[in-house]
Amino acid sequence: MDYSKHFQTKETPQTEPIFGKNMVKNSAGGYSFPIGDGERLMRFLMLGTEGGTYYIKERKLTIDSAKAVARLIEKAGPKVVGAVVEVSQQGRAPKNDPALFVLAMCAGLGDEETRAMALAALPKVARIGTHLFHFAKYVKAFRGWGRGLRNAVKHWYQDKDVEKLAYQAVKYQQRDGWSHRDLLRLSHPKTDDANRNALYKWIVSGELELPNSDKWRGAHPLNVVAGFEYAKKAKHKNEIVNFIQLYNLPREAIPTDFLTEKDVWEALLQRMPMTAMIRNLGNMGKVGLLIPGNWDVIERVRDRLVSPNQLREARIHPINVLAALKIYGEGRGYLGKGDWDAVPDIVDALDAGFYKTFENVEPTGKRIVIGLDVSSSMDWEGINGMPYLTPRDGACAMAMVTFKTEEKCAVMAFSHELRKINMSRHQRLDDVIKHCQGMPFGGTDCALPMLWALKNKVEADAFVIYTDNETWAGKVHPVQALEDYRRKMDIPAKLVVVGLASNDFSIADPTDGGMMDVVGFDTAAPAIIGDFIANR
Ligand code: CA
Repeated sequence: MDYSKHFQTKETPQTEPIFGKNMVKNSAGGYSFPIGDGERLMRFLMLGTEGGTYYIKERKLTIDSAKAVARLIEKAGPKVVGAVVEVSQQGRAPKNDPALFVLAMCAGLGDEETRAMALAALPKVARIGTHLFHFAKYVKAFRGWGRGLRNAVKHWYQDKDVEKLAYQAVKYQQRDGWSHRDLLRLSHPKTDDANRNALYKWIVSGELELPNSDKWRGAHPLNVVAGFEYAKKAKHKNEIVNFIQLYNLPREAIPTDFLTEKDVWEALLQRMPMTAMIRNLGNMGKVGLLIPGNWDVIERVRDRLVSPNQLREARIHPINVLAALKIYGEGRGYLGKGDWDAVPDIVDALDAGFYKTFENVEPTGKRIVIGLDVSSSMDWEGINGMPYLTPRDGACAMAMVTFKTEEKCAVMAFSHELRKINMSRHQRLDDVIKHCQGMPFGGTDCALPMLWALKNKVEADAFVIYTDNETWAGKVHPVQALEDYRRKMDIPAKLVVVGLASNDFSIADPTDGGMMDVVGFDTAAPAIIGDFIANR
């Protein structure tokens, strides 16, 4: 009788926990390690819960994440506020909504110090009108409109330069059932400044009386509001073009009928914010502005897309660049409204821009094996509610960052078995994604990269695995495969797990200092991974 066939600590099927280890059942029925509330907060901030995961419905995923965040707020509220501000200000996450939601939780559920900190941080996290409206909607779920909250909103308006506030009021008029009018009525900011008073009055009543109006043609702070009112009555596109130039009007101030005009878009492009430009590449193609051969326009757009400074200042997230690359490159809108001819230079610029949106990554010089989980659950629609990018797409693109940085780096894909992957450092991201999408689906065995390396005697200092941690199909656990690899190869190899779902478990053993969890789509992740692998 071979008793060790049934009980041992070196090889345990993934459907059972390893004896002596604190493990929990994951959503796929396998066993993984639980992650702490702090790690869960980071996953929520980076990945959100919109759309749920392959295994977990949106509602349950949100409730579970929020409960973990609430526990953390009770234990260390100020730290949570600090994390929210850092992630939001540095633009590390694809969307700002989770940060606004956690800030609202802190402003409602925290102790006195935490609530005060959260409200003081409001302008840092809610930087534009839409953010403020989202926050107003979220915070209602956790508290009433007491004095502290009114004050915080009042300061949001009072402390902004009046010209910038006017631009905000024109560009982001309302969202989520909230408007600037509602918020001004609730918070009652007072001012002696004539321009500011005129702006508040316009927001609340719609009447615009420009103070010192003999001077407004120069640089009146309320120019954009005046121009917005003029544009509403415009009859001809030339008037619109003129107003855009004179009053710096954003796209939101242009009557919809004129948004099919090439000249209007050309005028808008002069001072178009980066986020708007990336979102409207297809629209500018449709109206005949951004088309092959229109050299000046192509050059202007291309130069901005690859400018690290402009990308950073506008907090452009790599996922948004990737989404633009995928959609714009296909020459067809996601909602199927109209076609355009994608300009190859622009597609290439998006590809280059993607890499520039990450924090600077130093090569480690180490030997690295990257494992991409391409199982069915990774093909679940929508990173952070973005319907056109799956976690599988995102993982393939993120892996390219390390792949292009490191000299000794092998990339492999797996589901319940190894999948042939043919990636080159010179490949464009849309090609890489297309290639990954073509792979067959399957179950999940996250131990495969380590088993493959051991079988082929591949020397590796680190394994970096992109996965949703829903492993179940293997005969041994990933950590056991790694321990076996370390022992037999005599290399203290590290394991980095890049989590791609907002669930609460990981294949990494938190008690092993050679393993680390990071969150996918965090712009800091590739740099953090490099620092960990290189012992920096
Ligand atoms: Ca899976």
